[in-house]
Amino acid sequence: MTELSLRGLRKSFGGHEAIHGVDLDIPSGEFVVFVGPSGCGKSTLLRLIAGLEDISAGELSIDGAVVNALPPAKRGVAMVFQSYALYPHMTVFENIAFGLTLKRRDKAEVDRRVREVAATLELTELLERLPRELSGGQRQRVAIGRAIVRQPKVFLFDEPLSNLDASLRTQMRGEIANLHERLPDVTMIYVTHDQVEAMTLADRIVVLRDGRVEQVGRPLELYHQPANLFVAGFIGAPSMNFLAVQVSAAAEGGLACRFGEGLETTLPLGIGGAPEGVKTLGIRPEHLEEHPEGALAVTVERVENLGESHLVHARLPGGATLIARGSGAVEAKAGAKLRYALPPGHVHLFLEDGRSAAARQL
Ligand code: ATP
Repeated sequence: MTELSLRGLRKSFGGHEAIHGVDLDIPSGEFVVFVGPSGCGKSTLLRLIAGLEDISAGELSIDGAVVNALPPAKRGVAMVFQSYALYPHMTVFENIAFGLTLKRRDKAEVDRRVREVAATLELTELLERLPRELSGGQRQRVAIGRAIVRQPKVFLFDEPLSNLDASLRTQMRGEIANLHERLPDVTMIYVTHDQVEAMTLADRIVVLRDGRVEQVGRPLELYHQPANLFVAGFIGAPSMNFLAVQVSAAAEGGLACRFGEGLETTLPLGIGGAPEGVKTLGIRPEHLEEHPEGALAVTVERVENLGESHLVHARLPGGATLIARGSGAVEAKAGAKLRYALPPGHVHLFLEDGRSAAARQL
């Protein structure tokens, strides 16, 4: 059982600070996913944990012992890379066995462990092949096999599925989820910029931006209660709609709001203090409800029928755009006038500094 603790972890490359002091506790057996846009520092944070980069400041502990100075091989971690990093001249068997052979394990034991791992990952038939004779998904399984065979305490995945096509990604995602179930004591940390992977694999997601943690939480917690505009916009596809809204006062039954030209409504929300000012209202595309008396009168610009669902791209009188998602197909054409209601339980309000107003639904 392995617990990780990051305390004020920092990393500078020359004068550039890529990680600005990250605090995080990861209990044993947890599957944690680091997500964030390109350059936010997810891979760097993972490499600090792996020992592939030196920590500039702060402490990294594994099972209560500070490991800042320990080389990667002594940390009990195994890393799986996006590029697979297989040895091209070695067979699948030799690639998986490599770490054990290095440790001069008994030949019979190596053979047993490699075959066990190969069976788990359905690689038994491929053990004599070279990496170039494998598909992308099979290569990635070999890379995972090579990590599992070492029986690590912590598994680190750096965008392991990015090189695969869409259907293979879905399949491998399932395999990684199964792996987590089969190895319940192994702590897993997974880096991706694919939020579907993050939402489906994670026990907890860590959202990073510019080397800082924006929010840590369970997937649905981030979806339903984003702490700020950044997380709200990052989790969910298509992204949450954001509309500038002038809150004039707390009114009977909520907040009196105006957005766009001539669009006024009372939102059934309550926030503490003086609510007046320009805020940002957030509503997810799937939560906008078409309704003849809805508060948002829009003009349809484009409709995308996806089969099981549709997306309506529309514009408000003031010029702001929004996307609404509904089930099935829709007939609406460009130029059509529609109205959307804001269902009270799904409206988010963000303050001037981007933090969620954690509005009370009245
Ligand atoms: P991506 O999704 O594009 O892989 P990322 O979130 O993993 O991005 P990192 O690779 O961790 O981002 O990079 C974080 C920041 O640190 C970036 O600004 C990057 O340019 C910088 N950086 C990373 N590695 C180095 C390095 N070896 N030398 C200098 N700067 C680096």
